[in-house]
Amino acid sequence: MERIVYLNGEYLAESAAKISVFDRGFLFADAVYEVTAVLDGKLIDHEGHLARLERSSKELGIKMPVTGDELMDIQRQLIEKNGLVEGGIYLQLTRGDEGDRDFSYSDEIAPTLVLFTQSRSLIESPKTQTGIKVISFDDIRWRRRDIKTTSLLPACMAKHAAHAAGAEDVWLIEDGFVTEGGSSNAYIVTDDNVLVTRPLSNDILHGITRASLMALAKEMNLTIEERLFTIDEAYQAKEAFISSATTFVWPVVAIDDKPIGSGKPGELALKLRDIYIKTARELAV
Ligand code: PMP
Repeated sequence: MERIVYLNGEYLAESAAKISVFDRGFLFADAVYEVTAVLDGKLIDHEGHLARLERSSKELGIKMPVTGDELMDIQRQLIEKNGLVEGGIYLQLTRGDEGDRDFSYSDEIAPTLVLFTQSRSLIESPKTQTGIKVISFDDIRWRRRDIKTTSLLPACMAKHAAHAAGAEDVWLIEDGFVTEGGSSNAYIVTDDNVLVTRPLSNDILHGITRASLMALAKEMNLTIEERLFTIDEAYQAKEAFISSATTFVWPVVAIDDKPIGSGKPGELALKLRDIYIKTARELAV
């Protein structure tokens, strides 16, 4: 059965949803996006994703064509129409289509809004049991990584290289320091159980899962250091893990073929994953 997708006010079968070849999202990656997890047919961390979408679109001067309430309704309808129980909703907002290719754009252009569902098993992920291997990779992205744009070619190339090297993902490196994962935030746990992750700035995406995890870690009275860390410090860490909307928390068991800690998923990573999922389910809307 075909998925029902949302395109500019209409619910359409996926094969019937068409976008212009002049859409600036297609021509220039002039677009922002969000991915929100769905568990038990409900949205996880909805408010955070909505707030980040509003911020990203404001930073680029792309107008939001719907209100937050309307967006909530669209997402609920898509979940219902597609019978989605577990997976995610992808949202993309582009600056729109002015009928030709031109670098400059008018401020009056009508944006394109697309949403579709993806059915995936998120809780029973085999990666939780095994953990993932990552390789370090040069972070060649632009300087506004805090804006969630669809310019994802560096991430695609980095992940392709990781797969070719027999790893699942990358940890991106700039000036010797880890910025973040290919599509996730990166954390290490030191020998004395300090949770270390890079502070928020324009150098990384402000993960919505990261924000929830940090709040939970504070409630658990964990010692947290938001600071830069090098890949060499990560090699020596007791644990390493990543967070994102659709992985929640995945343990990292090797970096550049060097086992992290015991080489098995870390205790704290698994604990944070469990607590995050439990809390997120309680707060899901
Ligand atoms: N960093 C990058 C580069 C990402 O692409 C993502 C996932 N979109 C994240 C971090 C994690 O963000 P979130 O927890 O909001 O999914």
